[in-house]
Amino acid sequence: MTPFLVMDVLEKAKTLEAKGVDVVHLEIGEPDSDVHPFVVSAIKRAYDEHRTHYTDSFGDLELREAVCRLYKTEYGVEVTPDRVLVTSGSSPALLLALQVLCDVGDEVLVSNPGYPCYRDFALACHAMPKDIPVSAENGFQFDAKDVAAALSPKSKAIFVNSPMNPAGTLADPESLKELVKLCDANGTTILSDEIYHGLVYNGKKPHSILEYTDNAYVFNGFSKRFDMTGLRLGYLIAPKKHLRVLRILQQNLFICAGSIAQRAGLEAINLQLGSSAKAREFQRFQSAKCAEYDARRRFMLDRLSDLGFDVKVEPEGAFYVFADARRYTQDSLKFAFDVLNRAHVGITPGTDFGSRGQGFIRLSYATGIPRLREAFNRLAEF
Ligand code: PMP
Repeated sequence: MTPFLVMDVLEKAKTLEAKGVDVVHLEIGEPDSDVHPFVVSAIKRAYDEHRTHYTDSFGDLELREAVCRLYKTEYGVEVTPDRVLVTSGSSPALLLALQVLCDVGDEVLVSNPGYPCYRDFALACHAMPKDIPVSAENGFQFDAKDVAAALSPKSKAIFVNSPMNPAGTLADPESLKELVKLCDANGTTILSDEIYHGLVYNGKKPHSILEYTDNAYVFNGFSKRFDMTGLRLGYLIAPKKHLRVLRILQQNLFICAGSIAQRAGLEAINLQLGSSAKAREFQRFQSAKCAEYDARRRFMLDRLSDLGFDVKVEPEGAFYVFADARRYTQDSLKFAFDVLNRAHVGITPGTDFGSRGQGFIRLSYATGIPRLREAFNRLAEF
């Protein structure tokens, strides 16, 4: 496994801060909002109701039913609660799926650049990550001919991530359908990471892989859309044929997700889908948050362009911009540390996301506009 370079940047930033330096953090991939007060009330209620015990290993039935309602409302797909497995964040769900699918030496196809942990989860399961190049030209999403060229009899799984980290770009429905066709023909399972759904701008709508096939894994969670990173709550939706083996793995490896966090998740979905005055207030908060992310996104794109960073494909989801910095550097890691040491702005080197991220930087706009303005003023002086 390779180190998570963004953590190296963050740790260095913390040492500077300990010496009294003011660092603007554009490296971190987590929302700046706290858990919503309505959800906090649900957490307190859960303690009062003594919900501090193990749950079913697949999670509270009420929460799993709520996930089914969410997928029905947002994508029109029918999912039964037996297919929903609740986990402590979506990360353990990635591990469970790969444990089910992969034998030693099998291939797991991932985009380069792409979310770095996919590769490392594959390695943790003794499988081999295999890169498929993506670039600005195809919106950092897969091109069918590159997928076709990469697929082999050993390709057990392929990760698709839309909106994708690091570029915030979406896969279009046609390319998802094409991917389903190619993977079905090859016996490869699609692993669709939908963690950034709910954070999409420009009037765009993300599509779930379940609109096109039931023979896929979906990963989703509460960290990004519902500002619950530290509560550690996520889930997977699995094909029916794997439910028994998933249960055995979950029972042995994790037992179940946190019971209190599960009540928080249930409240968040109920509020997101509800029609009470409280639910409408929550929905207004969620919409205002997206509008704020969108304003930051546009601010960041404008300022990056003023400074001569090239963003060929506009991000339309998540809270990241993946900018081409090759006008200034051929070495993203050195550049990130130079920017941190001299301008006191934390950014993520593109190489964190694979070799094809060389020369790129990822900037997160999960930070308010006044701090973004400060960061860009510093970068302009740099
Ligand atoms: N997928 C992607 C693409 C991510 O960026 C992250 C978090 N950085 C995760 C999954 C994992 O999130 P969590 O475990 O908090 O649900």
